[in-house]
Amino acid sequence: MTESQPETNPSADTGKKSMDEIMALCKRRGFVYPASEIYGGINGFWDYGPLGSQLKKNLRDAWWHDVVMTGCRGKTGPDGNPVRVVPVDTCIIQNPKVWEASGHVGGFNDPMVDCRETKSRYRADHVKCMGEKGDSSGQIYAFIDGDDASFEGALKKLGKYKKKNLTRDEVDICPLTDLSVEELAITVGPDTKEVGTLTEPRAFNLMFKTYIGATATEDDIAYLRPETAQGIFIHFKNVVDTTRVAVPFGIAQTGKSFRNEVTPRNFTFRSREFEQMEIEFFCHPDEAGAWYEFWRDWRMQWWKDLGLEGENLILREHEKDELAHYAKEGAGTSDIEYRFPFTAPGYGELEGIADRTNFDLKQHQDHSKKKMEYHDTTRGEPLPNGQPKGEWYIPHVIEPSAGLDRGVLALLCEAYTPDPERPSKVYMKFHPRIAPIKAAIFPLVNKDGMPDKAMEIYRAVVQRVGAHGFVEYDPKQNIGKRYARMDEAGCPFCFTVDSETLTDGTVTVRDRDTLSQERIPAGDVPGYLAERLGLGS
Ligand code: ATP
Repeated sequence: MTESQPETNPSADTGKKSMDEIMALCKRRGFVYPASEIYGGINGFWDYGPLGSQLKKNLRDAWWHDVVMTGCRGKTGPDGNPVRVVPVDTCIIQNPKVWEASGHVGGFNDPMVDCRETKSRYRADHVKCMGEKGDSSGQIYAFIDGDDASFEGALKKLGKYKKKNLTRDEVDICPLTDLSVEELAITVGPDTKEVGTLTEPRAFNLMFKTYIGATATEDDIAYLRPETAQGIFIHFKNVVDTTRVAVPFGIAQTGKSFRNEVTPRNFTFRSREFEQMEIEFFCHPDEAGAWYEFWRDWRMQWWKDLGLEGENLILREHEKDELAHYAKEGAGTSDIEYRFPFTAPGYGELEGIADRTNFDLKQHQDHSKKKMEYHDTTRGEPLPNGQPKGEWYIPHVIEPSAGLDRGVLALLCEAYTPDPERPSKVYMKFHPRIAPIKAAIFPLVNKDGMPDKAMEIYRAVVQRVGAHGFVEYDPKQNIGKRYARMDEAGCPFCFTVDSETLTDGTVTVRDRDTLSQERIPAGDVPGYLAERLGLGS
């Protein structure tokens, strides 16, 4: 079955940013390629090129460093102690019982509607319907929510049917899921002209199935994980028993997840294979509220520190009626949302932070019959010797769950900066910490001893900052073209060796954002760069 692909919305630009232009730059400069492109692609899958995979690694590394290696960069938790987070790396394929316990086998269903005529498939909660205000008779017209072109198409079709020009203010809109069977029968689908081609919404399990072993019978069914979180929950006891961690503490994991999304779209935003960065933070139930607020605020600040500042980033606290059943008892759920060009003026989720209560550990305890209780020796009534008696409980869990690919996409959209004055007409204003190319070293001309000097600087710079990203050495073409290429790649600093270098030992530094140039001693280049990349001087 083919699926509808309301890809990007060309009219949805934030400021001057066009998603089509951002996607074109991503292809042109080797950030992102369509997967299997030479065979016509494969819907919902994307590959990263050299610059994209380094950008993605830099974002993953920043998360790993700030969360796991330094416990929120040395921040003190609400309990007055340093934050402790340890990593795990669990399998994509687990015993299918894991997904029965987590509720994914029974409940990980998005209702969807198919169009019998066009063979398009839509997520039912992404489709809305319109009819003329004050005249509910006659046909209903469906469109994809948030897709301007689809809305305009439906408005035009309704106007034609009613034989009058209708504006946005003259129509009533309701979710497709509110329609009765009779109403569905007189509804025109988003991509057709006929009524009655849409099926009733049906459940669609988002997990990819596979078979373990050669026989491939029903008994051999397994699933590709739809989230990394469950790999953490099932090892909660192992981590407690084999390390010196004590509640409150977190377990973190990054890795691929798979969801057979009904309508993958908007570039990498909704893919079928994507990478997550998840933390499950275990705490005493009484402290869940304080830890929820701690993680929500720290995660928001973290994205800001990587350059997603300003009004493109918002924190949205969920209303009670939006919450998952288990989260209703919790301290709260919020989303960190970014205003992508294709969601503007609205926002799309980058990371969710939820108090999941003890739901997951309890589910695994019930299904596996293995105790998930934690013995907290710091709590309970004092014994005659003054020591606490200890308390047994199943910890509550605060989950900050971020999408790595969505993070990369937000950084790409944020960095994309049109500038008609530059030869490249655009530059990528990446935060130096995540920029895939950290520096470029150029000999002004490819002769007169300049390449040798530039190569010497290049080697010293690779030694100093090479662990954090690429360092480019490029001796060819005129210098303007080389600068332009680095602007498009988002390289923050270019160092050029010229004739003055050979006499006074200085080089020029060109700043990507200000375009200012200054001269510094060639020997200072590694330290100068390291300081500006936040690696110390
Ligand atoms: P959505 O409502 O957009 O489908 P979700 O609420 O189902 O997302 P979670 O299950 O909370 O997402 O997953 C955590 C994070 O994983 C999301 O915030 C998002 O960044 C990322 N993510 C989820 N689904 C996808 C996907 N199909 N493609 C890329 N990233 C995804």
